Amino acid sequence: MRADQPLPPDLPIVDHHCHLAPSGEGVAAARRFREAGGTHLFLATQNYEPRAPRTVDDYRRQFETTAQLAHRIESELGVGVYCVLAPYPVDLVHAAASIGLAAAASLQEEALDLAVAWIRDRRAVALGEVGRPHFPVEDPALRAESERLFDAAFARARDADCPAIVHCEDLTEEGYRSLADRARRQGLRPERVVKHYARARVPPARASEIPRSYLAKREVVIDALPDDGPWFWETDFLDDSRRPGAVLDLETVPRRARWIASHRPESIERLRIPFEESIRRTYGWVPTVPPGGPRP
Ligand SMILES: [Zn+2]
Repeated sequence: MRADQPLPPDLPIVDHHCHLAPSGEGVAAARRFREAGGTHLFLATQNYEPRAPRTVDDYRRQFETTAQLAHRIESELGVGVYCVLAPYPVDLVHAAASIGLAAAASLQEEALDLAVAWIRDRRAVALGEVGRPHFPVEDPALRAESERLFDAAFARARDADCPAIVHCEDLTEEGYRSLADRARRQGLRPERVVKHYARARVPPARASEIPRSYLAKREVVIDALPDDGPWFWETDFLDDSRRPGAVLDLETVPRRARWIASHRPESIERLRIPFEESIRRTYGWVPTVPPGGPRP
């Protein structure tokens, strides 16, 4: 790699969606992220225990674990961490199998309320992941409940005035349109609804104002670079020792930024779209790198 075009020292390098687990690499993965040049992480919660939560206290413990990881990464490494919290949509399927559909659905609502309380307390910046399973749900009652909770999550994001990070199947142009319609029906602006795990470029004209959080594969990143935002880069790093480096390794975003700097130096300023401008438009603030900040 040519090192002739350094990244601007004030440019944040941001992974917009990752997971870290105490049972996985945890803080050490964030250290690798920083050493590769990363400065900020959006850290999405996940189940840290072998079975899906069955009580709202299970979710509270889960959110606390996410917050503790965030705190350690910030205090030990100086990497900025923004927590994203919600009950995972697929949890409904697992919980319904053990406690019944009605109880599982009200558990999701309670956990959404808990996440919103954390957001209001500024312990998290967005409600996510919300949405529906990325696989077809055969049981009609389960499917209907899942759709209802999708709407309920959007209504809560509207009330909390925060972005919603959506987990769902891959979307076509029509899918983006119906996602935007769903948001509007709940009084949530589509610009506040992020499609996470977007695996291919969606030109702005086909995205119905939904920001895309692109999986930071090289071809996707290069494809989307000329587009106006909002769009983000993410790894969806799972920090699962059984699936090392999945979905993408946590070093990927800073590596891609450095690749652009050395191979597409004329595009360096385009990096302000995912790392600053899109965050400003979607979240209303912008991450900053203090002078001499975390980038080595
Ligand atoms: Zn995720």
